[in-house]
Amino acid sequence: MTRLVLVGPPGAGKGTQAVALSEKLRIPHISTGDLFRAHVGEQTPLGQEAKRYLDSGELVPDSVTNEMVRERLAEPDAKAGFLLDGFPRNTKQAEVLGEILGEADTSLNAVIQLQVSEDVVVERLLSRGRSDDTEEVIRRRQQIYVSETAPLLEYYADILVTVNGVGTVDEISARVLEALRDRT
Ligand code: AMP
Repeated sequence: MTRLVLVGPPGAGKGTQAVALSEKLRIPHISTGDLFRAHVGEQTPLGQEAKRYLDSGELVPDSVTNEMVRERLAEPDAKAGFLLDGFPRNTKQAEVLGEILGEADTSLNAVIQLQVSEDVVVERLLSRGRSDDTEEVIRRRQQIYVSETAPLLEYYADILVTVNGVGTVDEISARVLEALRDRT
């Protein structure tokens, strides 16, 4: 159980949970949002292109995103496994991920869905204070989750593990680990 994807709406606590799980499972945490923010901060060409999408809550074009993930997954630390957070965000990206893994004769072990109610999501986002957490951008990111990302739950139905995402960080990671154990 080492090649994992974490999905859930913005504000579900994916980033926090991904950090906790990657420590417990000893696999790298790969967050496309973090990678994009690092590029924006360093003002790389990729960052300059991605910035307007992050600022508006739109998805960065698949061509840019997929290439960035392909390169990240080729790094040595990702060979033994990884926890992807924020990727894939649509079924096209999921297909590309399948191809990348297939080229290495591997595949995903599980997709973990963090389930939280809408109230909790909004409360968490407003308390986070990231620059793309204005009400308008939050609303856009939620719409995109519903239209673009939620279809992944069906795409990955065979390997989907749904976990209640309400509770302390430790409670939630314990639930995830237990759910993953039940699958093996
Ligand atoms: P996150 O940190 O996952 O909330 O992502 C922040 C922003 O980065 C998103 O609103 C998108 O603009 C961009 N982003 C992150 N992951 C992806 C992805 N897989 N595909 C396209 N855009 C992404």
